[in-house]
Order: sequence, then structure tokens, then C-alpha cells
Amino acid sequence: MSTRAGPGRREASGAPVWPAPAQKHAAGVLRASVERGDVTHAWAFVGPAGVGQRRAARALAAGLNCPAPDAPCGACDVCDRCLRGVYPAYWEFAPTGAAHRVAEVRERWLPAAFRSAPEGRWKVLRVLEADRMNEAAANAFLKGLEEPPPATSWVLEVADPDELPDTVLSRCRVVRFAAWSPAALDAEARRLGLHDAGERALAVRACLGSPATLRRLAGGGLDDLRRHRSIPRRLRDQGPGYALVAVRALDDEVRRHAAETKAAGRREREELTRLYGDEVPRGIARQVEERAARRERETRTRVLQAALDDLVAWYRDCLLVASGGDPAGALNLDAGDELRADAGALGPSGALGAADLVLATREGLELNVQHTLALEALFLELSSLTRST
Ligand SMILES: [Zn+2]
Repeated sequence: MSTRAGPGRREASGAPVWPAPAQKHAAGVLRASVERGDVTHAWAFVGPAGVGQRRAARALAAGLNCPAPDAPCGACDVCDRCLRGVYPAYWEFAPTGAAHRVAEVRERWLPAAFRSAPEGRWKVLRVLEADRMNEAAANAFLKGLEEPPPATSWVLEVADPDELPDTVLSRCRVVRFAAWSPAALDAEARRLGLHDAGERALAVRACLGSPATLRRLAGGGLDDLRRHRSIPRRLRDQGPGYALVAVRALDDEVRRHAAETKAAGRREREELTRLYGDEVPRGIARQVEERAARRERETRTRVLQAALDDLVAWYRDCLLVASGGDPAGALNLDAGDELRADAGALGPSGALGAADLVLATREGLELNVQHTLALEALFLELSSLTRST
């Protein structure tokens, strides 16, 4: 057993099947419902994205399908496949564009719920970003909620409950997911191998409560962050010519992440073959393919947005310092000297203007504007901002 035990997976007690450590409340509600056998046909997991909902949904599937008396045992083959998200009675649906589309609901979600799964007692269907269901999709989806098929449990992940139609939300049992506390994030950072206290503190502040961002920072992201926040200084030192260098560096970063994403997709497919041999259930193969394709599609936007987030945080810190605020409140408080230098060069209005420019570009990336040109224009503007002050 110890060979398969890992962080967040199975330990001596078998307990960490449920999300830990920040989601005690949610885990408690779900575990009790599995133990009592009173499982609702629709849950709304309400809270900031990426704080443990995936683990909770998969653990729910494990709890409902694991054959052990103390399900989920966390050790059997069923638990294993559920927790990896590759069990035939477990589905994940992510929006394919800006919203969930009605065609997806009709052609994939409802058939999955109403058809019997090739294996498993209970079906669990997880809808990521369910608050991005448009009205037509929500109306189609209501059919699944009004006439719930037996032994089927929907899990809707909702960051903003106001965005989900009441007709849907009112039929769900709400479970709250909390943002992680600094103490929980610090423990997680330690587990992820950040042993230096300064690095850990920076990562905990910079991840803004998201364990997913924390993982990115721990896995090389801190170096990226330091490079991003050095862009203003380099623009000042090297002039507008550095704009092109900065864009190329970000392109390299995107390529590096894209290669990692591709490799992760490959590993998932290999794992499927290991789990199922030549007979990978078609639904699962399709899910894994789609998941990998979506991640690859989203890599560029995700990486660039994260870079711009780092830059916005830096300019906000500059604004704080330039307007005489307490530097202890700065997110980048480990870089006091650089912060003071940039703050001095920009002044409060320059820092504010710079943050606004970066935010506007970040929004543009969501609308699929041409990335390279947008970034080039941004860095040129930032460079002129510094020199004119
Ligand atoms: Zn089990």
C-alpha cells in the first residue's frame, strides 16, 4: 500500500480520499450523505473555482461505487479509477467555449444521465463552471432535474450562484466550498516542496487563495513570476526595444507549458491503456481526449493571463509604495528595493495607469485578440509611461 500512497491519496487511515485540508465542511456533508445513503440527485458546489471541487466530486463517485463496507476505501480499483476521473459511471462536462451549449446538454449530458452505465451502481456527472450555462442550456438541463433518473447525482460547480437560473439552483442541495486559509496554503506549499520560508511566503501571497495557482508557483512558477515582475524595470533600463524581448520570453513560456500539457495528455492516455488494456470504454476515451484537447487549447490564454496577473499585482504594489502605504501590505514584499525603484519611477498615477493598461490587455486576451500584437502594444505603452514620468 505504501507504494501507492501519495499526498492527498491514501494514507494509513484511508481518510484523504475526501478533499483536504480546507474543505472540511464540504467533505463532512458529502461523507455523511454517502454513509447514510441519502444522496441527492443534484448538488451545487458553491465557491471559488479550483479549491477542491474536483476531488470532492470524484470522491463522491468513489463513495457511491466502492464495494468496500467503509466506502470509499481509497485503495480498491474502483476508488482508484474514480479518483482519476476515468470510471465509466463518472462524467465531467466542461464548457466548450464561452458557455455550456444547449446541443451539449441534449446530446451528451442527458443521454449520459438517462442511459445505464456499463459499470457502477451510481452515476456521478460533474458540470464544471455550471454558472456558464446559458438560458437555453439551462432549460434543456431542467429535464434532467425534474425527472431525475435513479441512482444519478449531478454535481454543478458554481462560482457565482447569481449567474445560475433559480429554476436550476432551487433543485440542488448547496454545499459551500471555502477559499483556502493562509495556514492551509502554507502547509500545502510545504508539501509541494517549497522549504524556503521566503519562497513559501511569496507563493502563499501570490496564489490569492487558489491551491491550483499555488501548485503552478511551486512547480517553477515562482521563477516565471520573478521574470514577469522584472519587466517594468527592464523596460525602464533598456527602453522600448525590450518590449519585443519580453514578448518572445512569454512565447517561450507558453511553448514550455504547452509541451507540459501535451505530455500530461499523453500520460493520461497511456494510463487508460494500462487500466483497461485494449478495451478502453469509448465514453471514457472520448472524455480523456476532450479534456486533453481543451487543456491544450487553453494553455496560451492561461499562461499569458497568469503573467499579466503577476504584472498587475506588481503595479498595484508600486501604487501602494508610491502613495506612501505600508510596504508590509505588498504582495511582492520580498522585492522591496525593486519595488521602491519602480514606484519612484512611476509615481502613483503612473502605477495606476500601468495597472489599468495591463488589465485592459488581459480582458482582450479573453476575447481572442491577437496575442502577440496585444502584448507588444502593451509593453510599448508601459515603456513610454515610465520614461515620461
Ligand atoms: Zn474503494
